[in-house]
Amino acid sequence: MGLEENLPSGVLLSTLEGFTNWARSSSLWPATFGLACCAIEMMTTGAGRYDLARFGMEVFRPSPRQADLMIVAGRVSQKMAPVLRQIYDQMVEPKWVISMGVCASSGGMFNNYAIVQGVDHVVPVDMYLPGCPPRPEMLMDAILKLHEKIRHEKIDARTQLLAEAKARRDERDGARLALAEGH
Ligand code: SF4
Repeated sequence: MGLEENLPSGVLLSTLEGFTNWARSSSLWPATFGLACCAIEMMTTGAGRYDLARFGMEVFRPSPRQADLMIVAGRVSQKMAPVLRQIYDQMVEPKWVISMGVCASSGGMFNNYAIVQGVDHVVPVDMYLPGCPPRPEMLMDAILKLHEKIRHEKIDARTQLLAEAKARRDERDGARLALAEGH
């Protein structure tokens, strides 16, 4: 990040965009992070006979600071949500999120106050994966589709997204402050 801010638009940027996206999509490093039964399928995908190394992503990183892919594998409890958000915030930019399984994507059969009804209430999701649990082949399909998505991203799209999110957050904080001060 930062590279795109100093480059002129045109052929050079298009070429650089293609190369950068190819490099980013070919070296995604997932954070080691599992929440429930879906995590067993994720571990099978990473450590079993499915060979994620083919896609440049065999290393599940124990530190979020070395990871740029979060696979939310399992239902997210209200108690876990702030921890999940903290891990996401500590991951390097640019970063991506796969919501694995029906529970992470929508709360699934846990339609109650203890479970977040969709992890997109907590972090932005790039790819939703249905199933209970999704099989390793389905996770690999979601990963390949995410690779495809990254390859077609505008290089500065993330910067814009972050700026928009920050503006929304500032606006919300301002409104809260005004409310607290009784304006
Ligand atoms: S989707 Fe199914 S396997 Fe995954 S966390 Fe929910 S109940 Fe468990």
